[in-house]
Amino acid sequence: MMTEDQNTADRPRIFLRPGGDKRVGRGNPWVYSNEVRMDGEAKAVPPGTIVQLVRIDGKPLGVGTFNPHTLICFRRFAGPKTDIDRAWITATFADALDLRRRFVDVPFYRLVHAEADGLPGLIVDRFGDVLVLQSGTAGMDLLLNDMVEALDGLLSPKAIVLRNDGKGRRLENLTEDVRLLKGEIEGAVEVHENGLTFMADPMAGQKTGWFCDQRDNRAFVARLAEGRCMLDVYSYGGGFGITAAAAGATEVRVVDSSESALDLARGAAERNGVVGRCTFAKANAFAELERLAEAGRRYGVVACDPPAFVKSKKDLKAGLKGYRKLAALGARCVEPGGILFMASCSHNVEPAQFQAEVAAGLGRVGRRGRIIRAAGAAPDHPVHPQLPETAYLKALVLALD
Ligand code: SAH
Repeated sequence: MMTEDQNTADRPRIFLRPGGDKRVGRGNPWVYSNEVRMDGEAKAVPPGTIVQLVRIDGKPLGVGTFNPHTLICFRRFAGPKTDIDRAWITATFADALDLRRRFVDVPFYRLVHAEADGLPGLIVDRFGDVLVLQSGTAGMDLLLNDMVEALDGLLSPKAIVLRNDGKGRRLENLTEDVRLLKGEIEGAVEVHENGLTFMADPMAGQKTGWFCDQRDNRAFVARLAEGRCMLDVYSYGGGFGITAAAAGATEVRVVDSSESALDLARGAAERNGVVGRCTFAKANAFAELERLAEAGRRYGVVACDPPAFVKSKKDLKAGLKGYRKLAALGARCVEPGGILFMASCSHNVEPAQFQAEVAAGLGRVGRRGRIIRAAGAAPDHPVHPQLPETAYLKALVLALD
């Protein structure tokens, strides 16, 4: 629960160094530790405390959470006079909900996308009457009970799952914590998307259990697969492959290195009546693409949607090489006139860099192509305009010659 002094005028004040208020003034919600006056008082503030950010002359700039031990030490929630209380939290969720309802017609979406939705550190995915929460900061951990109670009041879900096993938690010295906060769940739950039914595993699946971000890209690619054979590499629960099969792909090969991911994909194939046109292969993506290419297998559509190759800046060089190699191998398996879909969810890779690597990969195997769609995540994953990193997903659809 929130303590009273977190919401009174005497909450701790954190001073920006002289001249350090430009980015905050432009609406950037993050303040780095070298931008604040990190004196003994600031260092003694318990990680995650709600503080008032103030300019050196004492002018209040906004309330947010503070962790003196992290690089991004302050994350702004709201204006200087706002109380981060139940009413504010509920109103912020209601606003996020209203926005989703305008563009997703079933209750399966990312309800809260952290900073972009005004709730730094919090992810909430909604799979019908199951909510999956992920907190990435000490500040959000301290607010979690209030978040859960507000969501429960707003949506009365049957189950609420906490998936606090994201890698970002380590940067805040937070431990892993995965558990049910409400209700019961047995294994996978159904997800409805693009008129189809998929299986998500909120407790044990990847991330929150389902990747809503590719919803629109899946629909786009599926349409191009009608009447053609398709290869879905890094399939997870079969989002691309099963959507393509349902759209009339003649044959779909679904590839993932994880048996539990393939089980979800099989479940989706059964539920959508396309099992007969799907084959499932547990394999390493690079090895399988190489094998198929060597064997002369060619597909009308190849989708490659790997996990992040560049998890931190130090992996950049190796990760970019990985995207180049993947594009080359993927392109080798595309029949003449076919389609290559390539995605990167590494927030450390910029769109232009990703496109350059894909282009280089095509060049390496002597293929030419036209980009017919360059997209990001679906709109339930809004981007904070001041934080380019929140535009993490890059997706390219290429029509190859
Ligand atoms: N395309 C999916 C999301 C992919 S997530 C969708 O539309 O939902 C990345 C997937 O890659 C995970 O399922 C993971 O098990 C798989 N994976 C990770 N490393 C792999 C590898 N080396 N070879 C094949 N699959 C891999």
